[in-house]
Amino acid sequence: MTQELLCPLDNTPLRKWLSVPGDRRKPSEETDYQLYWCETCQYGTLHPLPTQYEEVEDFYKIDDYYTHSDQFQKKDNQKPRTFLEKLLVHIAWKLDQGTEITASLLEKYIPHQGTICDIGCGSGRLLSTCQKLGYQVYGLEPDAEAKTVAVSKGLQVKQGIAEDLSKHFQEQFFDGIVMTHVLEHCLDPISALANIKKALKPKGIFICEVPNNDCIGARWTGASWSHLGVLSHLHFFTENSLASCIEKAGFQVLSTQFRGYCRQFIPENIKIEQQAYEFFSLRNGQESLPIKSCASTRWMMLASSALASASRKYDSVSVISCLPD
Ligand SMILES: [Zn+2]
Repeated sequence: MTQELLCPLDNTPLRKWLSVPGDRRKPSEETDYQLYWCETCQYGTLHPLPTQYEEVEDFYKIDDYYTHSDQFQKKDNQKPRTFLEKLLVHIAWKLDQGTEITASLLEKYIPHQGTICDIGCGSGRLLSTCQKLGYQVYGLEPDAEAKTVAVSKGLQVKQGIAEDLSKHFQEQFFDGIVMTHVLEHCLDPISALANIKKALKPKGIFICEVPNNDCIGARWTGASWSHLGVLSHLHFFTENSLASCIEKAGFQVLSTQFRGYCRQFIPENIKIEQQAYEFFSLRNGQESLPIKSCASTRWMMLASSALASASRKYDSVSVISCLPD
């Protein structure tokens, strides 16, 4: 008899959610990855999870992971866009009212001269801007190459992961901690959040952004959704589950923000999802692929999502929270 899998947040049984037939970057491997979902919490997890951080680390060695350089947005092989591609992006751009995690957003919550840490800071773009505004900035980044780029800009960045934040920084050191698209990568998100709580001063601010698994893009594209990211993503959240994890860790939620609408309609992103769709189709993954990822279905997605609620429209959700006194 197989043991029933339980949700780590509320101990209720998890249901099978998505079967991801392989990893596109390792076409020679036949492994299927199983994702499970808790309806009550709206939280998902990969099962079985890797047992060691080294297994997760292997993933990033496969190709030039996007945080490695500052040039990741510049692609040499970009084709000129067609009129319809430009129109799709233009309409989506007009409809995009998402809130970016920028230095000016941080300024609304964290007093100047305060200490800020960006966990998973990549090459340090956000930290550099915050430093210019007068903040004392620190970063933590698992990737050695990205860390080197950040250090070459004069930033104080340590190599490490959220789960070992306390090895690098003393308790009650930061006025604010930012973590964008990191919690879903953590082997142990609960201990990552506990570390963040310890490293913050009383009333400290914590801003945490993750992919939004509730959005129409995620629901329509299933296993081929570009933010699904199996095997680098191990945990899957929505607005509800992100807020409840953060509250359970002892923070008070101040606000929830969404971002990432227009980018779902950019030809390069559509192409990535189309290639994933084709790869998984060949491996009989149809039941995990609700619709074909292509230009025409993207117009249907635009029509369905344009007036949808923020939680259905945007591909990412962030929670801004604070510690009590
Ligand atoms: Zn649950």
